[in-house]
Order: sequence, then C-alpha cells, then structure tokens
Amino acid sequence: MVTAAVENGGSDMVIDGNEQKPKKSVSDGFDANYLKIYYGKLFPYADFFKWMSYGNDGKHPGSDQSYFGRREFSFTLDNDIYLRFQSFNNLSEMEISIKEQCPFKIDIGPVYSVDPAKRHAYAGDNVFTPVERELVFDIDMTDYDDVRYCCSGADVCLDCWPLMTAAIKVIDTTLRDDFGFNHILWVFSGRRGVHCWVCDGKARRLSNEQRAAIAEYFHLYQGNENSRKKISLTGPVLHPFLARSYTEVLKDSFESQLLCRQKIFSTEERYEKILDMIPDESITSDLRGRWQDNRRSSKNDVNSLRWEQLKNLLQSGKHKAQGMRRHVEEIVFSFTYPRLDLEVTKHMNHLLKAPFCVHPKTGRICVPIDPEHCDEFDPTTVPTVAQLLEELNAADMEVDSETDWDRTSLGESIRFFRSAFLRPLLKSCKEEIESSYNAKVQQSKNSLSW
Ligand SMILES: [Zn+2]
Repeated sequence: MVTAAVENGGSDMVIDGNEQKPKKSVSDGFDANYLKIYYGKLFPYADFFKWMSYGNDGKHPGSDQSYFGRREFSFTLDNDIYLRFQSFNNLSEMEISIKEQCPFKIDIGPVYSVDPAKRHAYAGDNVFTPVERELVFDIDMTDYDDVRYCCSGADVCLDCWPLMTAAIKVIDTTLRDDFGFNHILWVFSGRRGVHCWVCDGKARRLSNEQRAAIAEYFHLYQGNENSRKKISLTGPVLHPFLARSYTEVLKDSFESQLLCRQKIFSTEERYEKILDMIPDESITSDLRGRWQDNRRSSKNDVNSLRWEQLKNLLQSGKHKAQGMRRHVEEIVFSFTYPRLDLEVTKHMNHLLKAPFCVHPKTGRICVPIDPEHCDEFDPTTVPTVAQLLEELNAADMEVDSETDWDRTSLGESIRFFRSAFLRPLLKSCKEEIESSYNAKVQQSKNSLSW
C-alpha cells in the first residue's frame, strides 16, 4: 500500500481507490502528493547520478572527483519558487535533497569551473564559469502552429506528433553522420515536445561559438510571420544534408503522414497558403481552377489528389526546366523541417528539464525516446505519475524497494535508458579517462627523464 502525507490537507491519503478515493481521476495525472511517492520510490537516482558523473565517480586515479559536484541543478518548487545553483557532492546528497524538496521540475545546467553553490566566494574573480555542458536541442510543438490544424498551443495528438518524429529522425541522423556524435539521448518533454542531449565528451566541451555553428547548420532561412514563404531553398542543388533529410525523412513524413492527417489541401484557405509558395501565376491559377471546381467524385483522398496534381504540374514539361520542382521541396520543408529553439542550443548555461521529471500539467513522465523506433512513440500513452502509483499498489510490495520501478510501466524506460544510452556512454567515458590519464603519466615521465 502506498500512502502519501497530504501536506496542506492534514490527513493521510491512500492511493489505491479502495479506501479514500483521490478527488482527481488517475488520468488527471498530477498531484503534489503523487510526486512525493514518485521521488520516494521510483525516480532512478543511481542511473541519473551515473550519467551526470560521466565515469568520474569511480576509483580510477584519472577520474575527477569534483566533477559531479560542479554541476548546476535547478529546482522549481510548488508556487513557482525557483532554486538555482543547487549542487551535490554525491548520489545520496542529491537523493536526499530531491526527496526533501520534492521539486515540480528539475533542470540541468552546466558543469562549472567551481561548485556553483559556492560561486559567491569567487565573485569578481571571473573564476566561476561554465566549462562543460551537453549539446542540447529543444523542439516544441507550439512552433509548428502554422502547419498543424488538429490542435494548437500546448495540445498534441497523434495527427501532429509525426512532426516531432520527423524532427527526431533528421536531427539524430545528422548528429551521428555529419558530426560523428554517438551518445545521444532523446527525451519526451512531458507534454508537447522533445529534448535532445548529446553527451559525447567532445560535445560537452564545445564552446558557445561552436554550439552556435552547429545550431546554424540546422537553421534554414525562415521568413517572418507575414512573408509568403517560410523557407527558401536556394542554389542549384540542395546541400547534401538537406537532400538526405528530404529523401530519407521529410518527403515520406509529408506524403504518408501529414498530408492526410493534417488535411493540408482540404479547404481553400489551406491550399491558398500552399499556392502562395509558388511564384508562377500560370501554375497557381491552373491549380486553383481545378480545385475550386470541387466535385469530390474521386475515391482518392482530396489531399493526396491535389498534392499529386501540384507535383505533376511543377515537375513536368516546360516547368521542369525552370527549376519549379524546387518549390515542391520548399513546400515539404515548410511543413516538416525541424523547428529548433536555437538559443537553447547556442548557450552552455541554458537550463533544460531533466529526464524522468514529471510534467506538472500532464503528470506524464519525461521518458526517453528510442530514435530507432520513434515512429512507435505515442505521447498520449506515456505513463502518468498517477498511473505508476496505481501500478505500484497493484504490485506486490514485499520485494526489495530498489527496483520498485521495475514493477511499473516506467521499467521499460529505465531499462532502455541503461542499455541503449548509459552503458555505452560510460564505456567510452572510461576509455577517455584512461587514455587521458595515460597521456598525462607519459608526459610527466618524459619531463622527468629529461
Ligand atoms: Zn494534433
């Protein structure tokens, strides 16, 4: 049986539905009391600590024992109380603090040159400065509101989620193939987006300038609110990165998912938005003529039909020579290309919400997403904290508490985090510590023998 002390209400609440039913239904997802139990029994502290230590928690003489303690964590408490520059010397300090504070949100900041909690001691000396930080990406569905018609703002559904899936595929492939990064963690933000953590040593040590250069690599020109075109693809051929993104991800995402799910050509207002992207008057009036004469006799979906008509016209005959097919690509890019919050990527000291947090509005856990199976990820079925506690209640509680999570649907996420991300990451961290230690030893030997 799982019980939670109700801080403001006074009495104990039992979350199993038999004795004293919680006022909210489980699907409502979030309750501060649920959070206490979540942090008490389910949050994967040890895995989290291992990740954030990057191999520096071992006994190897080359490991940096101060590493974890120089990391900034930030807690958002109930009533929007915001605690920045929290730091912990070890796993148990972190665990005790999180359990005590019960933060609604935990953010991760950079590793500083000195313990961030003691930064005031170094004030004025310019000693306190960020030295390492994962390369991070933040993609938020609200940035896609002009290309999704199913929902807007904070809402997401399975008809617009393919936009996030396309972003994961494009960015993940590019980070691995073009930049050579290997240790990449994708995380559901809990409601309407995804976060990406690139954790390779060489990614963590990038300067702000280098981060900005990577962000710019992903950045496509986008017009302002009023401009007709959101994206302009210039030059005789597409950059190889854009060409690959188009043929491997975006074209298919547009044609087999978004076109029909978002009903992109279904109304005059919607198709006019697309015709606006084609600068040739004769083509647009031709298409407009066919679409206004709207007898829906065809068995085919009107969106697929109109898209085929548009493509045929732009890619065939006399228009082919005029480079009109580029506009087909521009339309696809406008509707599907990842929209990044570049500022988050560019600056080392930008905070980003930690994986395995509970989203305070939805109650959903910020679980990792497997980029190789991101098509299968369904944001509407990600477990909520309430659901996990119900599963805990249903499970046998007599087994040792270390693996409580394994008896809930959080188990799958933690096992994936360990096997696909943490284990290979720590292996390469160990190798890196080993080789830089050996290099140092060799160096000092050389200077001695001289
Ligand atoms: Zn939607």
